[in-house]
Amino acid sequence: MQQFNSLEEALKHFFGYDSFRPGQRQIVEQALSNRDLLIIMPTGGGKSLCFQLPALLKPDLINGKEHSLGFTLPVIPKPGLTVVVSPLIALMQDQVAGLQDNGIRATFLNSSLSLPEVRSRQAAILKGKIKLLYLAPERLLGERFAPFLETVRSQIGISAFAIDEAHCVSDWGHDFRPEYRQLKQLRQRYPDVPMMALTATATKRVQQDIIQQLGLRQAETHLASFNRPNLYYEVQPKQRQSYNQLFKTIKSSRGSGIVYCLSRRSVDEIAFRLQKDGILALPYHAGMSDKDRESNQTRFIRDDVQVMVATIAFGMGINKPDVRFVIHYDLPRSLENYYQESGRAGRDSEPANCTLFLSAGDIPRLKYFIEQKPDPKEQQVAMQQLRQVIDYAEGTNCRRTIMLRYFGERFKGNCQNCDNCCHPKPVEDWTIEAQKFLSCVARCRERFGMRHIIDVLRGSRRKKIEQYGHHLLSTYGIGKDKSIDEWKMLARSLLHQGLVDETNDGFSVLKLNKLSWEILRKQRSVEIAVNRTTAAKTIVTTNPRTAEIEILFEKLRKLRKHLADANSVPPYVIFADSTLKLMAQSQPKTLEDFGKISGVVTHKLTQYGEYFVSEIRAFCQEQKLPVPLPASTQMKTLQFYQQGLSVTEIAQKRGFTSGTIVTHLSELIEMKQPVDLNSLVSPERQKSIFKAIQSIGADSLRSLREYLGEDYSYEEIRLVRSWWLRENS
Ligand code: ADP
Ligand code: ZN
Repeated sequence: MQQFNSLEEALKHFFGYDSFRPGQRQIVEQALSNRDLLIIMPTGGGKSLCFQLPALLKPDLINGKEHSLGFTLPVIPKPGLTVVVSPLIALMQDQVAGLQDNGIRATFLNSSLSLPEVRSRQAAILKGKIKLLYLAPERLLGERFAPFLETVRSQIGISAFAIDEAHCVSDWGHDFRPEYRQLKQLRQRYPDVPMMALTATATKRVQQDIIQQLGLRQAETHLASFNRPNLYYEVQPKQRQSYNQLFKTIKSSRGSGIVYCLSRRSVDEIAFRLQKDGILALPYHAGMSDKDRESNQTRFIRDDVQVMVATIAFGMGINKPDVRFVIHYDLPRSLENYYQESGRAGRDSEPANCTLFLSAGDIPRLKYFIEQKPDPKEQQVAMQQLRQVIDYAEGTNCRRTIMLRYFGERFKGNCQNCDNCCHPKPVEDWTIEAQKFLSCVARCRERFGMRHIIDVLRGSRRKKIEQYGHHLLSTYGIGKDKSIDEWKMLARSLLHQGLVDETNDGFSVLKLNKLSWEILRKQRSVEIAVNRTTAAKTIVTTNPRTAEIEILFEKLRKLRKHLADANSVPPYVIFADSTLKLMAQSQPKTLEDFGKISGVVTHKLTQYGEYFVSEIRAFCQEQKLPVPLPASTQMKTLQFYQQGLSVTEIAQKRGFTSGTIVTHLSELIEMKQPVDLNSLVSPERQKSIFKAIQSIGADSLRSLREYLGEDYSYEEIRLVRSWWLRENS
């Protein structure tokens, strides 16, 4: 039986990762000792692993006893099935595809399957071939399924229940699903099976509800920090040409992104304009048919398009880990919404940008909508939420401090990964200007809006001013030294700091409050942050070595996309961005080195290793980077080759695939070692491969294969190409 000497060893084997993320190890240990667990981790924190790894393992018993030193000591494969409850079909399919691609036996049952498919999956489960079964809650507790689950229990055993998105059980959460309520029965029917609940919702109320509704027993609660250190937060004042601003921001970004808008109309409009301007973008909102939405979502997940322009209908259920930017074109409804929506960026823990466009013009409009709500209580809540969003957007402190305070977390600030930390805005004393402004509001009898007040201050000759006789006021023309935009900036800041009020009866009117009078009486000074537009932090830098890594990364991304399409899976299922980045950095030129990269499991090494190594080698050739001297593993292959063994025989002797041996031989050829090409590929075939190289170049093995057709194997092409490279380098 396979045995792992540590959890890390098992982690590397099944998932290809070198180390656990914060919290994961302890959770896995507790799961292995069959405890009930409540896990609260932000999106991207790595929740899935917390039930996936324990589903595969159990502690090895030493002399019939569990070892007391934690699980640094052996773990072995576990019998039995872990049942995962997940609310969304798309999410299930993605997770299962990802697991299967790692060689882990997982499956799902849901309404998208035909009856024969369901039967065959059930049969596989009863044969003990499946370790993880994903289900929707309504199916799990359905009458027809209960007897099957009972059979599973008696024949192979249920090792745990994992309830994903567990906040759906709580009507205090933002996504209550009545069918989650029935999960309570699990505890009654299966009192001995440990249960793990997982969510990204932080509020205390929801946590208590989960424990109570699911009947968790002495659950160990793991509350991870809600800080997402890899996200860069920034706010950009929305410019008048806001579409151009959006376009530029997208243009300067790499990878996939989401643009959130408030209305369906603006979603359609912006998606259309982006398409016209050559950006691969699609719309997503609740006004579209299910079919269109699903197809747009799939195309986004598969990287067929770069940008999804969406209303907040696009959210839960997208499990794309490599979203590199989220732009809020309009203000979000609440800070919680903003956290969740912007948090769809960078789930893979790689750097990503979260940009919020702040338009002062939007605020009165939003307030107006809120005032239309019939229920005063609701109005009050909505107003408070808007206020918090504005505080965040207008804030001059570290964005994380403001955001995390909202979740009851104290953050020390100075994160060096938000606009306010990286480009602190100068704060200036604008008391005199504030006095001028407010006294103008007073002289206009608190009956006008910002625009009119500014016109008076700047001595405008507009008709309206003369009509009201405002050209005769003592404040007329006293503010010519500042531009309209500067006055607006002051007015907004006064509003946001609560130093003046605004009422709205179809149009906004400025009103003085207690604090305004303190300013006018010189009892209070006014400081405002002077806004400048700062460009989004670009993830790319221009160090030559970095540029080289970038180019290779893009090549590997293309290859990944190609392989993903061929296998009908989303690209991230093949390798995560972080894994590609490591490849681009370390540039492994042999399968052996390739296998050492974090994120590469044995299964993936055999399935995709060849392609990636060949791409990397081609790239290095192109860059004329030195190819290393034969390492001992290639030398061993050479020895056997010189003894006259065939490729298959060498592979057998060495316990490698013949693909690996051919790679060794190709490498040896390039290193001018004594390998005779004629003994490996017939001269006619060599000729046609040389021809292909002459017409399309030697860069890409894949293109050569496509050019030559299925009749030629990668092995042959690789060998001949190596010969060609050696002769032509
Ligand atoms: P969540 O469900 O909490 O949003 P996921 O379980 O989807 O997060 O994990 C987010 C990303 O982090 C995935 O791409 C996953 O493969 C990766 N990941 C999880 N655990 C680790 C780890 N220990 N090392 C490296 N990457 C990890
Ligand atoms: Zn900061």
